[in-house]
Amino acid sequence: MEITVVGSGTAVPRLERRQSCVVVEAGGETLVFDLGSGAVRGMLRAGLDPFSVDRIFFTHFHPDHTVDVVPLMFAIKYGAETQRARPLALYGPDPFEEFFGKISGVWGEWMLGYYPTEVLGLAHTSPSPVELPGARIFWAPAAHRPESIAYRVEGEGGAFVYTGDTEYAASVVELARGAHTLLIECSFPDDSPVAGHLTPSGAARIASEAGVGRVVLTHVYPPADALDLEAEIGRGFSGEVLVAEDGLKLHV
Ligand SMILES: [Zn+2]
Ligand SMILES: [Zn+2]
Repeated sequence: MEITVVGSGTAVPRLERRQSCVVVEAGGETLVFDLGSGAVRGMLRAGLDPFSVDRIFFTHFHPDHTVDVVPLMFAIKYGAETQRARPLALYGPDPFEEFFGKISGVWGEWMLGYYPTEVLGLAHTSPSPVELPGARIFWAPAAHRPESIAYRVEGEGGAFVYTGDTEYAASVVELARGAHTLLIECSFPDDSPVAGHLTPSGAARIASEAGVGRVVLTHVYPPADALDLEAEIGRGFSGEVLVAEDGLKLHV
């Protein structure tokens, strides 16, 4: 599977980092995980076609992970050369249908009704994965907001895990167990932690306990960006470490 970190930033506006968005091409489909501000334009910058999106998965409802769903769906209505016929599926943690209902209560006239749309709330523990022809998608609770979940995509080459926002959680370690690549948030320095987020030592602990092959850090707030994050993670994790930048491409 091919992975593109479209946005590696946070709620803090920065030229260097867009808000959260990851695109995964797997199972013959284009999957998007989170859609923060700037994500649609970031897809273009990364050489991806926003109209190619088949499924969108949200980790939680914070604006820096969700707001670009409106311009994306508006763009699909107006921007394609031919009217889209294939469905667009949107998934998020319960109560996702209620959350999406509020957004579409404001913008729905310009988002819905032009192509088939499925809106699916996910129970916090996955009874069964979302099945694609060449990939399976699992999820588990993350420790950030009450609704927060993290995702695992399993394909032929191994598993890719994206935490969304979280602090240390055993459920995230379990979800990430043995993954080829773990895209994990690393928001703040160890000497100024914030509840609901990870610091380098917490990210290293999850990666090490889960036994992943490679760690990629994302959702980096400016104070953490000033650190040598690769060295900090290296104190608690012996595998490969990368710090994401917008447009980073990964292969699993
Ligand atoms: Zn966030
Ligand atoms: Zn958040």
